[in-house]
Amino acid sequence: MITIALAGNPNCGKTTLFNALTGATAHVGNWPGVTVDKREGVCKKGEQPVNIVDLPGIYSLSPYTPEEVIARNFILDSRPDCVINIVDSTNLERNLYLTTQLMEMDVPVVVALNMTDELDRRGDKIDAKLLEERLGLPVLRISALSGYGIKDLINRTIATAKRPRKGISVLAGTTISDAVSQVAERMKDDVSSPVFHAIKLIEGDSVERDVHKRSAAFADKLLAGVNDPTFGSDIEALVANARYDYITKNYSPALTRKSGDGVKLTKSDKIDRILTNKWAGIPIFAAILFAIFHLTFSEDLLFLGAIIAPFGEWCATITEEFPVLSIFFSGGLNSPGVMLFNALDLLTSTIGEGIATGLESAGAAEWAIGLVGDGILGGLFAVLSFLPQILLLFFFFSILEDSGYMARVAFILDRIFRRLGLSGRAFMPMIMGFGCSIPAMVNTRTLADEKERTATIRVIPFFSCGAKLPILTAMAGGMIGAFGLGEVADLIVTLMYLLGMVTAFIAIIAMRSTTMRGEITPFIMELPDYRAPGMKSTMLHLWDKAKHFIQKAFTIILASTIVIWFFSHFTWNWQFVPDENMDTSILASLGMLVQPIFTPLGFGAQLGPIGWVFAVGAVTGLIAKENVIATFGTLASAVVTGFTADEALEGVDAVEALISATDISGAACVAFIMFNMLTIPCFAAVAAAKAEVPKGKFKWTLLFWIASSYIAAAAIYTVGEFIWPVAIWAVVIAVATAGIIWFNKNNEKELKTA
Ligand code: GDP
Ligand code: MG
Repeated sequence: MITIALAGNPNCGKTTLFNALTGATAHVGNWPGVTVDKREGVCKKGEQPVNIVDLPGIYSLSPYTPEEVIARNFILDSRPDCVINIVDSTNLERNLYLTTQLMEMDVPVVVALNMTDELDRRGDKIDAKLLEERLGLPVLRISALSGYGIKDLINRTIATAKRPRKGISVLAGTTISDAVSQVAERMKDDVSSPVFHAIKLIEGDSVERDVHKRSAAFADKLLAGVNDPTFGSDIEALVANARYDYITKNYSPALTRKSGDGVKLTKSDKIDRILTNKWAGIPIFAAILFAIFHLTFSEDLLFLGAIIAPFGEWCATITEEFPVLSIFFSGGLNSPGVMLFNALDLLTSTIGEGIATGLESAGAAEWAIGLVGDGILGGLFAVLSFLPQILLLFFFFSILEDSGYMARVAFILDRIFRRLGLSGRAFMPMIMGFGCSIPAMVNTRTLADEKERTATIRVIPFFSCGAKLPILTAMAGGMIGAFGLGEVADLIVTLMYLLGMVTAFIAIIAMRSTTMRGEITPFIMELPDYRAPGMKSTMLHLWDKAKHFIQKAFTIILASTIVIWFFSHFTWNWQFVPDENMDTSILASLGMLVQPIFTPLGFGAQLGPIGWVFAVGAVTGLIAKENVIATFGTLASAVVTGFTADEALEGVDAVEALISATDISGAACVAFIMFNMLTIPCFAAVAAAKAEVPKGKFKWTLLFWIASSYIAAAAIYTVGEFIWPVAIWAVVIAVATAGIIWFNKNNEKELKTA
């Protein structure tokens, strides 16, 4: 059976075509050694059954990404009988860039012009006959989506597969064309696709040069005589430019755009003029981020509180009368996120009270009421109560992503990222980190440079994930309550997110200029047209997230809270400890043991008698980040003595009680948030990092997380707590340093003059 490979740019419709061709026979696996999807199947739609292999989506055949290397090695080594080059005909020129490289290989190629339905809709036309003549390859119009032209495509491909083809190059007429033909001539007896290999050697392709050392030396000798007036010795740029020139001159005439002039601004282009504007782009992005956090966390929506204030008394009485109304306003108008939060809170506390009262009237033992009320419900509800806000945040992020805006953000940030030593590609995994670190770490596979990849994986947890959100929200709410700060929850949360991002960038700069130095590969990225996000797929996505979160709450987090409850309510010799004596519990003694570690961060030994809860929270967070707040929920009702189980404290109230009871300072609270945000992420993310970073780098990655969280938290605490001494010392050190430099300079001068 003959084998046909599908090659094309990302998003050109390869997978759609693959599915249309192979139907139910498809088999998805991995390419050996890497975790890029490999899809294989049999197509029975043509005159004879054929094997189909879906190659990864690529823009070129350079060796910069695993996808590119896989695609070219498959064609060169596995020798498919024919390659179908799928071309997105709405983006003809850019897609043909890959075609000019496939042409160089000794393999039959058929060009499938896909998305012709979209092309027709736009009123643009492609002259397939003319293109076929100019390319010297069969060209067919198809629509993978509707199935149009697929049967013809497969039959034409079968016919073409029978005729061997020699590689040809579009670089004739450039300053290097001579070198290309000489190197190809020299290699033609040893390898197949000599033209392809010759061009790669001349371009300085690192992988090729390692394999064909002697031909590479030969190429270097020829190139020594070449000095292009425009590109000098930058042959890679010269080749890329020559390809585009050739495409514009020879292939573009096959395309007629409806407007005739070829540069019509689409609606997307017009929007992009504003959103990707050099100056406005980043402020707009920051404003959008704040708006999202405002809609999710603010208790003073649109800052209407000031307008509502005159009716404050009326609001207070009416909410007293109808507690349900407190869902909608507490001070100011609540944001949708807070409304959902309050509604769920009302529900869970009613359930919790009902169960506790039921147990009490049934005459259950004190420890049983405590276990159910604090241990199980307290921890569980503390975590679940954040689900609405997490989902809302995901909802906004997935709209940004599906609409095509996130791709623009990557584009605007590319300029800044380059300064930091990263390519714009690194942005996507970072943004994904706001959802969950695990898929984000996997997504770094799009980064070509291994060191860039390792550095990115390390900072991904600094982009605070959904599971860390409860820590942020509950701590922010608790701080507001305990220190009387006013309605600034959205501001605190935004600032903490930003602080995490800033730390990530500082760490990136530090790594990329020391242990993780490396090249930044060229960044080619397409900006897809803006689209209205599909509500159905967004909802499916959200449901998936909710399911995952709830599953986690009822398994790992439930188990941990029960264990924590037992440890906090029993002594080493297995005596039950009532709430007010919790200091004598197993957990307390363990907590006090590790507590001193956190003293420099502000939540260690300096806290009041039950201050060890923060140390315990930080440690349990290593299993799953939701545990931090679940732990607080389980322990808090014990903090204020005399509390009965039916008044169990959760989430924000729990943190507020703990802050007041331990006398922890504001700076230490922020340090606590930062520590949890930056330190070793949850078990699952650690496993993902272990799988993704190169061998030997994993233990350093763990150390990196411990060190950066500890240093950042200690710095925040020290600066926040001792702002005056720090400032004075900073001035003293600055003056002393300046003095030493000045002294040295003077000395040097004296030495020179002497
Ligand atoms: P891949 O990245 O190359 O595998 O591309 P996909 O097969 O995932 O397709 C990318 C997008 O293009 C999907 O939203 C498809 O539904 C859409 N698509 C694929 N083929 C066609 C087509 O012929 N016409 C139109 N209008 N859309 C298509
Ligand atoms: Mg695909």
